[in-house]
Amino acid sequence: MTVSVWQANGEQPVESTDVVIIGAGLLGCTAALYLHQTGYTTTIIEARDVGLGASSRNAGFMITGLDKYYHQAEMVYGEAATREIWELSRRSLAFWQDTARQHGVWMEQSSSLLLAETPEERLELEQSTRRMQANGFDCEYLSSDPLQRGYYAAIRQATDGGIHPVQLLNAIFQASEAKLIANSEVYAIESEATEVVVYSRLAIVRAQKVLICTNAYSPYLDPYFVGKVTPNRAQCLATAPLPERVINAVGYSDYGYMYYRDLPDGGLLIGGGRKQNKALEGDTTEDRTTDPVQAILEAYLKTRFPDVTAPIVRRWAGIMGFTDDGLPMVGSLPRDARIGYAVGLNGHGLSLGAGIAERAVDHLLYGTHAGIFDGQRFD
Ligand SMILES: Cc1cc2nc3c(=O)[nH]c(=O)nc-3n(C[C@H](O)[C@H](O)[C@H](O)COP(=O)(O)OP(=O)(O)OC[C@H]3O[C@@H](n4cnc5c(N)ncnc54)[C@H](O)[C@@H]3O)c2cc1C
Repeated sequence: MTVSVWQANGEQPVESTDVVIIGAGLLGCTAALYLHQTGYTTTIIEARDVGLGASSRNAGFMITGLDKYYHQAEMVYGEAATREIWELSRRSLAFWQDTARQHGVWMEQSSSLLLAETPEERLELEQSTRRMQANGFDCEYLSSDPLQRGYYAAIRQATDGGIHPVQLLNAIFQASEAKLIANSEVYAIESEATEVVVYSRLAIVRAQKVLICTNAYSPYLDPYFVGKVTPNRAQCLATAPLPERVINAVGYSDYGYMYYRDLPDGGLLIGGGRKQNKALEGDTTEDRTTDPVQAILEAYLKTRFPDVTAPIVRRWAGIMGFTDDGLPMVGSLPRDARIGYAVGLNGHGLSLGAGIAERAVDHLLYGTHAGIFDGQRFD
């Protein structure tokens, strides 16, 4: 996001804090909460308002792990790293669930269902179950379709479920006691000998340290992220409330490309449709819906849920930050170790976010290595 000389001429009010966080999404607000618990004061500077990026546009699925099935992840990242990712995910979900209970956030631990769209995917589910169970991750393989909607098999993960992402985010933001400067795009971060200075449209903030939590928008803030984080669009639709719940779980199939859940008001959410439209949905920060993706979602609704005849009442889009290997990046900028980052959540901010925010804060404060998520792997 650029800021012109007319919008800000360097004469904005100047203030100070211990840590500036850029971006008031799930990552920024959770990092602010960890910093608050460690005794630091934080100011969050946000281009729009709390959660107006991906964090309030997602599907609210809390699913352990990644969109890659466990055994596939082992092939890509190795056994130890995959265990590390799944453990971090398990801890993240436990953190959101505890936070939700504490603050009265709508949440249900109704389980997740990873469903097979094809016989090939069924084999992947079988292998994934074996590897998860061997590594101590609770899951159950169901050789027939628990929804009786034509799927080939499923994995049930009992501790997963759905959440109201905006209520969660607001609760975390309030608990962080961070100061918010909203509607104020950051356009420069300058290093001085004793402080880092963050320039935003409405204010200049001096701090000991800075944490960049701008996810998909990171390449527009700092050139370090160009070629490392790419914005990708994701879309959903929702029906009017239905007389009965349809899934009673959060459902995920076609390797995570399609997803569906019951909403708190009784409607049905369907998301996905990106696999067939990667060029159209890739490399964009425009959060608008597109006809080809919405047509796929509608067709899926008709095919898999023909009994759902309630009208579609909402369609929306959001922007995710992708990295080449599908994992978030945590670290600090090569030019200044006082400027940390936690970006590139790859559509898994609820699955991984709390653990990633914790690692980013530990790295920023104590220099702790971020493990498999270390952003230097792309340098
Ligand atoms: C449709 C959709 C469905 C999804 N479903 C799920 C799901 O079910 N489960 C799951 O785990 N994940 C899901 N995700 C992904 C999840 O929403 C994200 O991973 C998560 O919200 C990322 O949080 P964040 O704080 O890193 O990014 P964001 O929420 O995008 O926050 C980044 C913030 O930075 C701000 N910003 C950017 N540039 C600047 C600047 N220059 N100055 C100041 N502020 C700036 C932006 O305005 C924004 O508010 C989904 C995403 C989408 C779009």
